[in-house]
Amino acid sequence: MGAFGKDFTSLMAFSRYSDNQWQTPSLQPLDDFKLTPASHVLHYASTCFEGLKAYRWADGRIRLFRYRDNIKRLRASAKALCLPIPDEALLDTMIKQAVLAVESEIPDLPKSLYIRPTLIGTETNIGAAGRASSEAYLYIMTSPVGDYFSGGIRPLKLLIDELNMRSTPTFGQVKTGGNYAAALSSVIRAREQYGADQVLYCPQGNVQETGAANFFVLKSKTLITKKLDGSILPGITRDSIMQLAENQGFEVVERDFTVKELISWLPESEAFLSGTAAVISPVGHLIHNNKTHAVGNGEIGQHTLAFRKQLTDIQHGQAEDNNSWIT
Ligand code: PMP
Repeated sequence: MGAFGKDFTSLMAFSRYSDNQWQTPSLQPLDDFKLTPASHVLHYASTCFEGLKAYRWADGRIRLFRYRDNIKRLRASAKALCLPIPDEALLDTMIKQAVLAVESEIPDLPKSLYIRPTLIGTETNIGAAGRASSEAYLYIMTSPVGDYFSGGIRPLKLLIDELNMRSTPTFGQVKTGGNYAAALSSVIRAREQYGADQVLYCPQGNVQETGAANFFVLKSKTLITKKLDGSILPGITRDSIMQLAENQGFEVVERDFTVKELISWLPESEAFLSGTAAVISPVGHLIHNNKTHAVGNGEIGQHTLAFRKQLTDIQHGQAEDNNSWIT
């Protein structure tokens, strides 16, 4: 298995939207497909996607984690991008179809099958800058995956970026390709110039999230993360961790906070990223204005590891699923 997101299974579920309706989905080889160079998506970025996982439990059967929430989020993204909105039932069918078709290719735990539903606007029209695509492809690709960050679980180093925004105040909540394209140069700069693993976007000093995960600070018994205001992605892992922490008596606070506050908390805190790919990834250092600040002692936080274990135990069928997150 290569780096995260480089290997794919052999089949995908596919449906096409035209004449105001979705075609009955079919399984297709995960291979090249035809698109005209004048496709709406290739010019105006009419694309959104999702990321979720399926796991092969010890009993050999395959389980999905909170996939209905990914369906909801994809539909919200499609709406924001004026793309045809696939029905819940269609997405439900296609996700299950895509996973079951490649059942024998799903790795054993702790690896998993990353599922990537993708929706693109395919109308042949480059005069359509102000018009929505009336045609679309919806396809569900799958990819066997292990760790997202190379080197397994280790304390990550983040570069605090106060100049760049990863998205806009209202589009950050949309899982669309344009947001990732806009973030790319600052993430690459952070890696190449600072040896950082990721960027923590903090426009005008307000802490938001990283390029592909939400950000949490645990300050004694208080778990703090930015509130949802449209500017960040409403992470499903974020929501899961907040529920698990609250059930264990942590105070969970969703609020805006500044880089200044964050840095003042660091000596007494733990910090981590949350996301489907990142799972729960500990943060060991933050680089700000060319100065490196340790989070706590710079090592993996104990509570961070415990949160990670609680979440993955549920996902892997090794703990009770009290919230009905597993299908
Ligand atoms: N923020 C961004 C920008 C992301 O790309 C992701 C990954 N989908 C997340 C947060 C985490 O979301 P989730 O927990 O639903 O994977």
